[in-house]
Amino acid sequence: MTSMEIRSFSILWLLFLVPALGLAEQTPQSLADAELPSLLGIYKDIHSHPELSGYEERTAALVAKELRAAGCQVTEHLGKYENSKLKAYGVVGVMKNGDGPTVLVRTDMDALPVEEETSLPYASKVVAKSDEGKDVHVMHACGHDVHVAAFIGTARALGKLKDQWHGTIVFVAQPAEEIGTGARALLKDGLYDRFGKPNFVLGFHDKADLQAGHIGVTEGYTSANVDSVDVTVRGVGGHGGYPHKTKDPIVLAAEIINAWQTIVSRENNPLDPVVITVGSIHGGTKHNIIPNEVKMQLTVRTYKTKVRERVLADIDRIAKGCAAVAGIPPELAPIVSVPKDMVAIATYNNPELTKRLVAIWKKSLGGENVEIVDPTMGGDDFSEYSLRDHSIPAVYFHFGGVDPEKIAESKRTGKELPTLHSSKFAPIPEPTIRTAIIGMTTAVLDLMK
Ligand SMILES: [Zn+2]
Ligand SMILES: [Zn+2]
Repeated sequence: MTSMEIRSFSILWLLFLVPALGLAEQTPQSLADAELPSLLGIYKDIHSHPELSGYEERTAALVAKELRAAGCQVTEHLGKYENSKLKAYGVVGVMKNGDGPTVLVRTDMDALPVEEETSLPYASKVVAKSDEGKDVHVMHACGHDVHVAAFIGTARALGKLKDQWHGTIVFVAQPAEEIGTGARALLKDGLYDRFGKPNFVLGFHDKADLQAGHIGVTEGYTSANVDSVDVTVRGVGGHGGYPHKTKDPIVLAAEIINAWQTIVSRENNPLDPVVITVGSIHGGTKHNIIPNEVKMQLTVRTYKTKVRERVLADIDRIAKGCAAVAGIPPELAPIVSVPKDMVAIATYNNPELTKRLVAIWKKSLGGENVEIVDPTMGGDDFSEYSLRDHSIPAVYFHFGGVDPEKIAESKRTGKELPTLHSSKFAPIPEPTIRTAIIGMTTAVLDLMK
């Protein structure tokens, strides 16, 4: 054979060999299936070793190791909290593959102070110290363990599909989602300056009322602005038998709570969703003492920035107005504060990008397995990655975690399924993780092809 003939012969031979090795047939689906046994091991390990928000040391180390093995350049301990004494356990893995867009893929890692009651063989028995120094049980009751397993699966799949995409993938494992501080901590530590501002941002969350194997997504707003508001209503305390000698903050607090309800019912456009919940109220020590103050804690949920600003201003105005009507002197006006480190802004799914991904998921998972779901008044600090003006197109999608039989049973009996954050929340791992990997991998491939 001439050298030319030898070369064509080798190429011919390679053409036979490559499919035989299965190299040419790798797809997100086949890779998800191949990785599933190993990922289930990782999932169960994380599930039985949950860590509270801000304490994700073990989980972060595991994620860093896995991202490195998948071919990423890894940076650990990313994040700067408002409280500079706290260590942050953010992990960033950068996977580069020539020129092209930058896509950010985000998972969260933290668990919750919940005592697990699933009776799964891998159920958590972990007890940890809370920030207040109390012993608390810890559980992955929001499924962030599923997210981590699917995130690792996605990195592995994309590492093996480099012939199908170009650009840079920034894998972000975020701490402290449940307390709404993790995403801001990563951005404050220069996430976008150090690793590049992404062209697209993708995140996912399991859903406790969606069937496993399904993806659910909302166009536009998908989760709400969450503000915590602290209110101290002040009065002039005294004897319970001589109310005319006092200014009673308990009666005033009751007036204020009722007046706040008119923000939703009278001052707000009914087409803009608003929730004002007083979740905590404390005042007084005894039957016959009028106290000096009453303390309240509120959660306030909105979508639009303008509505959010107006509602927060209304809460302040009404509290102070009611106090003036009650004859409280200006120096004792209610103190209304909105802690800046306890805010989650609304997550907005870019409508065009959502439509584009829905089409891709219908192809990769089947049309019947992709649902448009209603938005909720829940919150997730994933929104921070899209920036406050939503200028970086983002999509935050859900994947189901529930056995379809259980959904049918719940419909039949009217008995509610365990929600996220419930001690009985137990997604079925295999189809849940598999669907999340396929959903995320096909989305990234489409944005970077
Ligand atoms: Zn949660
Ligand atoms: Zn969650």
